Amino acid sequence: MVEVFLPGTGGVMPLKNRHLACCWMEHNGRALLIDCGEGTQVALNKCGRRLSRLKTILFTHFHADHIAGLPGLLLSLGNCGKTDELMVAGPPGLRETVKSLLAIAPQLPFPIRLMELEGAEKFESCGYQISSLVLQHGIPCLAYCLILRRKPVFNPEKARKRNVPREFFKLLHEGECVTNTEGERISPDMVLDGMRPPIKICYITDTRPVKEMDAFAKDADLLISEGMYGVVNPEDKKHMCIPESIRLAENARVGKLWVTHYSPSFQQPEKYIPADKKTLVTAGYDGISCILKGK
Ligand SMILES: [Zn+2]
Ligand SMILES: [Zn+2]
Repeated sequence: MVEVFLPGTGGVMPLKNRHLACCWMEHNGRALLIDCGEGTQVALNKCGRRLSRLKTILFTHFHADHIAGLPGLLLSLGNCGKTDELMVAGPPGLRETVKSLLAIAPQLPFPIRLMELEGAEKFESCGYQISSLVLQHGIPCLAYCLILRRKPVFNPEKARKRNVPREFFKLLHEGECVTNTEGERISPDMVLDGMRPPIKICYITDTRPVKEMDAFAKDADLLISEGMYGVVNPEDKKHMCIPESIRLAENARVGKLWVTHYSPSFQQPEKYIPADKKTLVTAGYDGISCILKGK
């Protein structure tokens, strides 16, 4: 299971009551952060998140509202005793941008591994299978899909019938072979009951709709998607409005949609969620969280 938490839901600039949009995910004591605008570490601290658990940061793009909080966060990570590697991934320009920001956060006590993504790529980090999708925002910008595999179903009855001592159940469930009380080798496939579907989370902000989105977000347990405005703003060729994110959620048949990344002038986004969509859609707010256990 994974906890998903939005420390902030604002776009462009932080407000008195709204931090900048980002997403914190945590499972098995390891955390991953998507984007880090100004004040992100303040928002994380306010909600009691343990920075020392952070293993990976994914950047959607390099506008200040998505990255300006990085130097402060890195310094705090150093101050809270982090010594293991931090993986940082993002679109082209990552090396140059992070290198410039490191000028004001030098001599960190942990190594940073940078992974510059050319576009649509797949990689593993922090226990997730991660894929990226190229968005349309005027500068290189990526959406992310994270898949967390779940352990297969363990059948204790099958294990008992094969004379496996109880203390070995956990090892078998984790994929290791054990020896039963008769001295026979028992492998996991003898006591498991098939796979569980993985947990899928998609994060899409700062873009006009692109045709690949529906397939990218297909069947996600949770889609977090941009709602810069309540309705389409014809002047703005770089952002999505709430109805566009709802259409995407419906086309992709996701489990639920959280809308995020609101324009600073956009107050009360919940008013733009139609009554008949409220089981599918929530207007995200700072501090919203959920635990995803999978289907
Ligand atoms: Zn933005
Ligand atoms: Zn942007």
